[in-house]
Amino acid sequence: MQQSPKKLGLTAKIFIGMIAGIITGAFLQFLFDDSGDLQFSVFGIEVSTYAVLVEGIFHVLGQIFINSLKMLIVPLVFISLVCGIANLSDPSKLGRLGGKSVALYVATTALAITVAMVAAIIFQPGAGVDIPSDATYAAATAPALSQVIIDIFPSNPFAAFTNGKMLQVITFAVLFGVAMAMSGEPGKRVATLFDDLNTIVMKLVTILMNLAPYGVFALLAKLFAQIEVSTIFALGKYFALVFGVLLFHAFVNYSLILKLLSGLNPMPLFLKMRETVVFAFSTASSSATLPITLETATKKLGVSNSVASFTIPLGSTINMDGTAIMQGVATVFIAQVFGIDLTLSDMMMVVLTATLASIGTAGVPGVGLLMLAMVLAQVGLPVEGIALIIGVDRLLDMTRTAVNVTGDCMVACIVGKSENEFNSAVYYDPEAGVADEEVDLDDFESTSIHHKAD
Ligand code: ASP
Repeated sequence: MQQSPKKLGLTAKIFIGMIAGIITGAFLQFLFDDSGDLQFSVFGIEVSTYAVLVEGIFHVLGQIFINSLKMLIVPLVFISLVCGIANLSDPSKLGRLGGKSVALYVATTALAITVAMVAAIIFQPGAGVDIPSDATYAAATAPALSQVIIDIFPSNPFAAFTNGKMLQVITFAVLFGVAMAMSGEPGKRVATLFDDLNTIVMKLVTILMNLAPYGVFALLAKLFAQIEVSTIFALGKYFALVFGVLLFHAFVNYSLILKLLSGLNPMPLFLKMRETVVFAFSTASSSATLPITLETATKKLGVSNSVASFTIPLGSTINMDGTAIMQGVATVFIAQVFGIDLTLSDMMMVVLTATLASIGTAGVPGVGLLMLAMVLAQVGLPVEGIALIIGVDRLLDMTRTAVNVTGDCMVACIVGKSENEFNSAVYYDPEAGVADEEVDLDDFESTSIHHKAD
């Protein structure tokens, strides 16, 4: 086989895309004048840099990238979960799998918000912050718990697919996979088809990952051209505290939980999460990152498809530790700014509502603030307080999404390991999955089906 010249790996390219995007955006922001734009004339025509680059090229490329990721979510989750369930060696595992995943997700979220609130009480981020009189924010109301539970079951699976209702898609896929496994020969025939379909959608994920350096560049260049750094300084203490607790939870708590519950060394997890974390950071959406999270869990971390295809999509919907951290700090911050004392029972209420609110809310940008409104309303804090932190939320949203997806993978490893659905050799192999992720888009001819059939 002909040895190709040494090329830059995909991870390196994605990182270059990220850094280049941040620098380009920051540089544009530096060039922009007070009006937030830079006008120049070409052949006597006035051209706006903001309109052409930021709202034009970067916006279009970034949105195409996000849409393409989202395009894969429903088919990927449905197909891989049906395969995973049908291939489970022991169907009685299903109940345990679900129970363990949900219990770990809820427990880690509750831990995250508790740590965040304790840190906020110690560091007092709201002390000395003035309330702007024009702060307004409308609260959304929390759905009743009974409705949250009913909504897990789709009345029409196609409506669930169309609207991207992830918990409903998961429920339908699990039931379909179970029925398929119980159907003898017809089930086996359809399972072969699903296995093949799974290979194809996973290939689509790989193709998309190869375009990621450009997508990530466009998203970050646009964002950093628009972000208002001065607001971050004004709320420096709040920003730094949320950021610090996010890092603490990701590196300290996750390391301890993983080590204690599975005996695994956490280092490979962190190293192998690099790309997924960049995706999560630049899209600020654990849902949009789902295809990549799933690929990382199966190919790099060694979690079997049966466990990962269930645990990861579930996590992208119900597990939001990073979001819970923001909510914990924000609740205490807002109480401090408005001079309201939170009692211990208020705080327990916050932990409970924030944990429950994260179930059934999809991982999309900004959803954490919406949930925060419910939490604040629940303990009688002024919802307008959200207007104070909204200005710095995007960067924190990106960071907490990175924590959310890391938590999903950590739980998948623990559940996989405890159910013997885990390959430690893959987990500890630094090269695992790396060769699979490179597709040579120029080499389509030599790999196409028609070509091979001749
Ligand atoms: N953007 C977060 C996620 O997708 C949710 C949030 O905190 O707003 O996981």
